[in-house]
Amino acid sequence: MDDNLRIQCGACKGFAPASQFKLHYKFKKVVCPSCFSGRTEQEERKKAAAPEAAQPKKPAGWDKEDEYLEKMIRIKQQSTPQAKIEKIPGSNLVKLGCFKCAYKFRYDPIRKMPQNCPYCNIEVPNLKTYQL
Ligand SMILES: [Zn+2]
Ligand SMILES: [Zn+2]
Repeated sequence: MDDNLRIQCGACKGFAPASQFKLHYKFKKVVCPSCFSGRTEQEERKKAAAPEAAQPKKPAGWDKEDEYLEKMIRIKQQSTPQAKIEKIPGSNLVKLGCFKCAYKFRYDPIRKMPQNCPYCNIEVPNLKTYQL
């Protein structure tokens, strides 16, 4: 047998000297030395395990991004100016803080007057949620 004759291994498709091929019980065929020693199997397992090991990092990254987006939304919501309403005792009027410029003015929620902020002239939002 020519020791220098290299043949292809049916298991790993690699080439190795023909004389080193051995019958492997698991492969049920002759395989190259690295397959026979289980090296190829180990490599395959490593390759197979690698994406799995990397996977938990991905969702963690997504979570972080989600958390970040959520935080941004929360900040946005917090910074969204909103009309502040204080009831003026003994009257049907309320003290309304303009949601844009924060200027406080008396507002009649029944007649919906004034319709605009006297300071910045922005339209007073419809205070649907407001309850007297
Ligand atoms: Zn092989
Ligand atoms: Zn205003």
